[in-house]
Amino acid sequence: MNVESNTLADSLHKIRFCALAGTEAHLLTPRQARRVGPGIRGKWKSRWFYGLKKGLLLEQFVNWGSEDRDILRFVQRYGPLLHSPFKSGGFAFNLQLWETWQKMWRDRWRELTAGPGEFEFRSSLNGTLMFVAGRFELRVNDLDTFMMLEAAASDRTRFRICANPDCLTPYFFARHRRNRYCTEPCVDWSQKEAKKKWWKDNGQEWRKSRDAKSP
Ligand SMILES: [Zn+2]
Repeated sequence: MNVESNTLADSLHKIRFCALAGTEAHLLTPRQARRVGPGIRGKWKSRWFYGLKKGLLLEQFVNWGSEDRDILRFVQRYGPLLHSPFKSGGFAFNLQLWETWQKMWRDRWRELTAGPGEFEFRSSLNGTLMFVAGRFELRVNDLDTFMMLEAAASDRTRFRICANPDCLTPYFFARHRRNRYCTEPCVDWSQKEAKKKWWKDNGQEWRKSRDAKSP
């Protein structure tokens, strides 16, 4: 059914989506890690998470650090990406998975920036449509699906990669359409580079004309 032609526009409701987030987690001890590899183990604390007050969780995730401590901080605040809190209260995963998850999402981000071509995230979504507090909400089973919906609900033309090649957090969602740099420090970097380039191209000429003028 084509919703637009069969339904009055003002009768449509927005559906919000959420996932369970927040865990008690810890790094495996060196002794445990010797047996099963470096990892994180934890339990879900499970509160409904509807997104950050500002920005996308996805944007944070693709820029997040990959040291053991960084990973632990993300997992405590939000959770592991593909482990559903509905299956069990607990989870454990090898730290090497983090790199796989980030690479997957950084590749997707790059694809999103690559123009309006066809794009498929995944053929099925895991979640439950619930009617709560007078409205429908889609409660998804894992943070990976949550971020997928975040990406789908966002203006695709605003997914960017910072034009500063040395940028440490280069994935950004542009607040203004013309933004090419993620933050002020990278804008400053680009202005310095432009100045350097100007001097390289014009410095000799400029010095010559200055020396010609001086007595
Ligand atoms: Zn940057």
